[in-house]
Amino acid sequence: NRRVILKEYVEGYPREEHMELLLPGAEVPLRLAGDDPPGSVLVRNLCLSCDPYMRPKMSPPLRASYAAAFVPGSVITGYGVARVLDSSDPRLSPGDLVWGITGWEDYSVVKPPATAFLSKISHHAGEDAVPLSYYTGVLGMPGLTAYVGFHEICAPKAGETVFVSAASGAVGQLVGQFARLAGCRVVGSAGSAEKVELLKSKFGFHDAFNYKEEPDLAAALARRFPDGIDIYFENVGGAMLDAVLLNMRAHGRIAVCGLISQYNLKGGEWDAVRNLSAVIGKRLRVEGFLEPDHKHLYPKYEAWVLPYVRDGTIAYVEDVAEGLESAPKALVGLFHGRNVGKQLVRVAND
Ligand code: NDP
Repeated sequence: NRRVILKEYVEGYPREEHMELLLPGAEVPLRLAGDDPPGSVLVRNLCLSCDPYMRPKMSPPLRASYAAAFVPGSVITGYGVARVLDSSDPRLSPGDLVWGITGWEDYSVVKPPATAFLSKISHHAGEDAVPLSYYTGVLGMPGLTAYVGFHEICAPKAGETVFVSAASGAVGQLVGQFARLAGCRVVGSAGSAEKVELLKSKFGFHDAFNYKEEPDLAAALARRFPDGIDIYFENVGGAMLDAVLLNMRAHGRIAVCGLISQYNLKGGEWDAVRNLSAVIGKRLRVEGFLEPDHKHLYPKYEAWVLPYVRDGTIAYVEDVAEGLESAPKALVGLFHGRNVGKQLVRVAND
């Protein structure tokens, strides 16, 4: 059983050397062992998801944010898609496909309470099948994140203006398309010409810009939103948030999904928000949220989004790294904008 461990806690940007691929020792029995607790599930991992929240988990426990820190020497855990090989969880049987929290390894024994995060995949076979990897993206955690943040927190109305940062990524590309479907005018920012082109041509953003080429962010936004922004879907924080605050309309809403520009700052000192006074003057509503709090909405979300995915109304772009050995590089790449679309790792074929 090959596995990827965290070697040591990370300060600043994560590097591949912070992780290590350990090669197999003994053969893995393809059955649960007698000492695995009741309710355990043995899975063969197929796809693993690289997600920005994994970086705060690489910091020492005191610095780690809302998610508990990884333990150096232990296998990295995260979302993935897997096939059940053996199960003492009555919900699951050998052969079932599942998505949820698993390990960065070929095979994992998922134990309670983590098994509560395993959901059975029921839309893989037949004519209407969707790619299994989508359960790391549009049909998984990033999809529900985009839905909750945009529809539940921001409560969009047709005709409103929407801005999305990190717009070509796992979450952002969906927020843009949900906004378009809601009849909003949506603009996105991303870090390369290729990504900007994708936003406009593939995801239907009405406009998009490369934030690295327009360092006066407040002016870049003012040009695209002459009457201001009603809804900001925040993925990056830092200078972008300050520029957005200057461009919000009265009674605007900001869903604070993530602040990726801050995750690698040394010393754990995050940038101050300089234009916070705009929240008062413009009577803004700023709300943070965590996807796991909204799991109960998944069935509603899945029923809503599946027809759009099947008929192509919603497109989903993935960046697939091949093989477990490529996982550390793929994760590190998120923090340099190397991924184009949802970053995942294919460990094995179905
Ligand atoms: P992405 O697929 O968008 O990948 C990360 C992207 O962030 C990179 O490709 C890069 O794109 C951009 N980025 C990296 N560093 C910076 C920086 N310093 N400044 C600006 N942009 C940067 O990731 P996700 O869609 O999975 O996640 C997006 C955000 O949503 C993250 O902040 C994440 O933490 C958050 N999140 C929150 C959840 C919640 O429950 N609240 C759940 C899931 C995600 P580019 O080339 O455009 O710079």
